[in-house]
Amino acid sequence: MRSMNFLRILFPSPFKIHRLVEVLSIFLFLLFCGLSIYKFGKFLPEFINDSPWILLAQIVVLLLISYITADFFSGFVHFLGDSFGNENTPYIGPAFIFPFRDHHVDPKGITRHDFVETNGNNCLVSLPILLYCFFAPIEAGVFPWGRTFWIFVLIGIFFTNQIHKWAHQDNPTRFIRFMQRKRWILSPEHHQVHHTRPYDTYFCITTGWLNPILHKIGFFPTIKKFVHSLLTFVRLG
Ligand SMILES: [Zn+2]
Ligand SMILES: [Zn+2]
Repeated sequence: MRSMNFLRILFPSPFKIHRLVEVLSIFLFLLFCGLSIYKFGKFLPEFINDSPWILLAQIVVLLLISYITADFFSGFVHFLGDSFGNENTPYIGPAFIFPFRDHHVDPKGITRHDFVETNGNNCLVSLPILLYCFFAPIEAGVFPWGRTFWIFVLIGIFFTNQIHKWAHQDNPTRFIRFMQRKRWILSPEHHQVHHTRPYDTYFCITTGWLNPILHKIGFFPTIKKFVHSLLTFVRLG
């Protein structure tokens, strides 16, 4: 009976094929994240030598850089979703572009999304990179720092939508509010800058640490201008 309820939560009626894809993506993403960490963790004792502290410092720095990179990607993907195409764009319009546009019209909508809807698309997009990191052969005698970095980035990206959802919740838990106040995760006050017309800045939604820098250097307007001139060039060509 319980398993029936669980299935109903996973697949509420009417049945949608995209929901099945999301559930499978989350399952495979979490599975291969765990397997990757176990696989690479097994190499660590070989590299401890006589200085575990240096190794620990390397891992902490790697985690920090990965978290900042995840923040960048959260902003870049958000920028693409907000800036190009529309909900009728073939293949990606309804599933990927529509949620970005709808979020500006109904910012609280995200707080009504369940775990699958919140995290499914992220896992689907991240899965090919994660599978590559797991299956690509490892060079003997060298710790796979590059691969570990990308796995940490993907984990940061996995948490992004959840963090974004907390930034829109009226009453998040005290712990989440504490993390938001410390700016370890996106805070509602910081994110409000993006939710102000014309919605064209502060796209990063993991921590938002990169937002002031990217805003100052005009990063996203420059990319947008570049893409538009490229499209004009292709059309004229
Ligand atoms: Zn937006
Ligand atoms: Zn938002």
